[in-house]
Amino acid sequence: MHYFLTEEQQMIQDLAAQVAKEKIRPQRAQLDENEEFPWEIIKVLAQSDLYGLYIPEEYGGMGGGIFENCLAVEKLAEACIGVATTFAASGLGAYPILLYGSEELKGKYLPDIASGQRLAAFGVTESGAGSDVSGIQTTAVRDGDHYILNGTKQWITNGGEAEIYSVLAITDRSKGPRGATFFVVEKDDPGFSFGKKEKKLGLRASATRELVFQDCRIPKDRIIGREGLGFIVAMKTFDKSRPGIGALGVGLAQGALDIAVEYARKRVQFGKPIISFQAIQHKLANMATRTEAARALVYAGARYLDSGPADMSKVAAMCKLFPGDVAMYVATEAVQVLGGYGYMQDYPVEKMMRDAKILQIYEGTNEIQRNIIGQELNKEYGRIKESFF
Ligand SMILES: Cc1cc2nc3c(=O)[nH]c(=O)nc-3n(C[C@H](O)[C@H](O)[C@H](O)COP(=O)(O)OP(=O)(O)OC[C@H]3O[C@@H](n4cnc5c(N)ncnc54)[C@H](O)[C@@H]3O)c2cc1C
Repeated sequence: MHYFLTEEQQMIQDLAAQVAKEKIRPQRAQLDENEEFPWEIIKVLAQSDLYGLYIPEEYGGMGGGIFENCLAVEKLAEACIGVATTFAASGLGAYPILLYGSEELKGKYLPDIASGQRLAAFGVTESGAGSDVSGIQTTAVRDGDHYILNGTKQWITNGGEAEIYSVLAITDRSKGPRGATFFVVEKDDPGFSFGKKEKKLGLRASATRELVFQDCRIPKDRIIGREGLGFIVAMKTFDKSRPGIGALGVGLAQGALDIAVEYARKRVQFGKPIISFQAIQHKLANMATRTEAARALVYAGARYLDSGPADMSKVAAMCKLFPGDVAMYVATEAVQVLGGYGYMQDYPVEKMMRDAKILQIYEGTNEIQRNIIGQELNKEYGRIKESFF
């Protein structure tokens, strides 16, 4: 389908597609096998100016929005969502600074993130606090002109590789949800170290590690926003970043569909290409239709969110939820279309099926997205006076 992209948006998409084809596709199996962080590809993405798509020009970015970022993420994800997650997670780490950081913080960190010189990461999750972010235990205690951080963050994407971390910590437990605050922590801050790199079902080109804070001392001006704003910063960040997870899903689904159709046209059984069997055609038709529906939702949702509407959380949740489920479905069906070959590492669909699962889990599980959408519907319809029956 034609989405009426501007010339600039088309260029962004073409550029990301070129990197995906020339750099990611040839290496993805090896990155997966070796659980290797894709530094070489990151350098190419940085040279292509793709890291700054959503960052304002005054901070060295391209001045685009969620939509432009989604266009790039989708194309990278067609080849490998491990690499594309590495790219997208830098945005997740940057958004708290971009949305709520002081001018000083923005000027200090955003240009390096925009140029891809330094990667960012987002540190919220802990062993006892996943969906329920309010359960975090990491603390930040004021000590003169500094804050002292103690605690451990778990499963942080780009952990150990990024240099700039947006980290959520409790500054005043007595204030409950208003007692958490975001800080910028730099990789070489004293008292900051990393746990082991996790071994995962998929997404193996992406590094997932613990962040360990032991009396980690950071200057007080590294606070993002002000004390107590942490949960709002986290939620507003997700409103911006979740369509990007949707774009990962659209890209993965498209990548799996492309392989399935090509294979079905070539594979001959019972004297005919298997694509001539209606059962296979119907599978491919469902895969293609759902992929296009997910793309249409992400594109429309991202454009809408870039206009700064009031109902951001509901739309952002929809943009994350549906493509993630579609990607899991399409990747699983792609394996089925390829039969036994689909199960083997000779074809990329087995990796895609392993990779797809994460899209239903990180940045808020799909159950949590349904909760958000359901709660927002309840509120919206509560405001409508008219009866529909
Ligand atoms: C590869 C990977 C990368 C990640 N990267 C990052 C990162 O960069 N930064 C970061 O901060 N975190 C990151 N995470 C953490 C991720 O966001 C969490 O895993 C996710 O939010 C879910 O938390 P949990 O795993 O603790 O599951 P839990 O919260 O324990 O949930 C377990 C199950 O219960 C369900 N559930 C929980 N509460 C409810 C409810 N109220 N209603 C319905 N169902 C519910 C969940 O949907 C899920 O199915 C990453 C995780 C992974 C696996």
